[in-house]
Amino acid sequence: MGLSAARALAGAGWQVTLLDQDAIPNPRGSSHDQHRLIRHAYGAERGYMAMVDQAFAAWDRLWAELGACHYVPTGVLAMAEAAGGWLAASRAALREAGHQVQDLAPETLPARLPMLAATGLADAFHTAPGGVLLADRILAGLVRRCAAQGVRFRQALVRAVDPEHGRATLADGTTLAADLMVVAAGPWLPRLLPAQPVRASRQVIVMLEPPPALRPAWAAAPMLLDLAEDGGFYAVPPVAGTTLKLGDHRFAPAGDAEDPRAASPAEAEEILALARRRLPGLEQYRLLEARACYYDVTADERFILAPLGARGWVMGGFSGHGFKFGPLLGEALARAVADPTLASLLPAWAAGLSPPPPGLLPSGV
Ligand SMILES: Cc1cc2nc3c(=O)[nH]c(=O)nc-3n(C[C@H](O)[C@H](O)[C@H](O)COP(=O)(O)OP(=O)(O)OC[C@H]3O[C@@H](n4cnc5c(N)ncnc54)[C@H](O)[C@@H]3O)c2cc1C
Repeated sequence: MGLSAARALAGAGWQVTLLDQDAIPNPRGSSHDQHRLIRHAYGAERGYMAMVDQAFAAWDRLWAELGACHYVPTGVLAMAEAAGGWLAASRAALREAGHQVQDLAPETLPARLPMLAATGLADAFHTAPGGVLLADRILAGLVRRCAAQGVRFRQALVRAVDPEHGRATLADGTTLAADLMVVAAGPWLPRLLPAQPVRASRQVIVMLEPPPALRPAWAAAPMLLDLAEDGGFYAVPPVAGTTLKLGDHRFAPAGDAEDPRAASPAEAEEILALARRRLPGLEQYRLLEARACYYDVTADERFILAPLGARGWVMGGFSGHGFKFGPLLGEALARAVADPTLASLLPAWAAGLSPPPPGLLPSGV
C-alpha cells in the first residue's frame, strides 16, 4: 500500500520519502510472498466485487508503467459442502452483475481435476476471470518504478506519528515533517495508531510440491476456494515458477506482527488437515515450507482508507484481501489528495459500501 501510494503520489508531482523499518520490499510485510489472488467472487459483498474490475484496470496501468505483466490468469473454482452460504451469495451477485458463472456438478470435479475428491461436496462453480498476482515480482517492480520517479527510500523505525502536523518521530529521536503523511503500516498499524479498529492476525501458509503424477494437473489448475463449514482452505496453483501454496482465511484470535514467522509443525498440520479430505494422498506431497504471515484485520473485514488529522491519511484493515486493490487504492488516495471533495467520499467506497465517487477513477473504468 505504501509503495502504491508513493508511486501514485510521485506520479501526481509530490516529492515522496518512503520510510520502512526494514529493507523494502520487506519479507516480513503482509504483501511479501510469491503470490496473491485476485477474483470477482466476494460472497454478497457487491462493493468489493465491483472494485475488482476497477482493480484490474489499475493493474493494467501498472503493467504499462513497469513494461511487464506479473499476473497469471488461472480461473477460480469455488466449492462448498453445503448449499447456500458464500457460494450461493457469490453466484447471485456475480450473475446480477453480468459475470459468467459455470455451475459444476461436484461429482464431475475429479475427472476435470484429478487432485480433487468430491466427497461431501454439495455445490461448485467456476469463473474464468481471476488468477495469481506474482506478489514479490510486483513489489520489486514497484520499488524500481518508485525509484525511477524520484521517491526516496529511508530505512527507519517510526516510533510515533502526528498526522495533525504531518510529523513522524523516528526511533533515533529524529523528527521528520511533511505536508502530507500516509500511514500504511500493515499489521504493525495497531502499534502506531492504536485507536484504529485494526488488529494483527497470524496466518499460516504451507508450500508443497505435488507428486510427479499430479504436477501437470496442478500446473493447469484454477485457484481453489474450499468453503467448508469448519473453515475451509484455499490453494494457489504453482504458476510461473512458484510453488503450490495452501492457506486458510480463519483469523487467529491474537497475534503481533513482531512475532517470529516460522510456523510450528502443529500449525502446518492445521492447514494440511483442512485440505486432506479434498486433496487425497496429501501425504505424498512434499512439504517445502510452512510459515506465518500477518493480516491486519477489522471486525467486518472492511478497509480503512481515510483522512487522519489535518495532514494525514491512513490505509489499513486489509483483512487478508487487500493486495489485489493495492495500485487502485494508491491511485485513489493520490486523486483524493488532489481533489479534497473526494476525501470524505473515499472511506465508504474503500469499505465496499458505495460506488466510486464521480471523478475518482480515470474515465472508462
Ligand atoms: C498469507 C496471506 C495471504 C493473503 N492473500 C491475499 C490474496 O490472495 N489476495 C489479496 O488481495 N490479499 C491477500 N492478502 C492480504 C494482502 O497481502 C494485504 O492486505 C496487503 O499486502 C497489505 O499491504 P500493506 O502495505 O498494508 O502491509 P505490509 O505489506 O505489511 O506493509 C507495511 C509496511 O509498513 C512497515 N512498517 C510498519 N510499521 C512501521 C513503523 N513503525 N516504522 C517503519 N515501518 C513500518 C512494515 O515494515 C511493512 O514493510 C494476504 C495476506 C496474507 C498475510
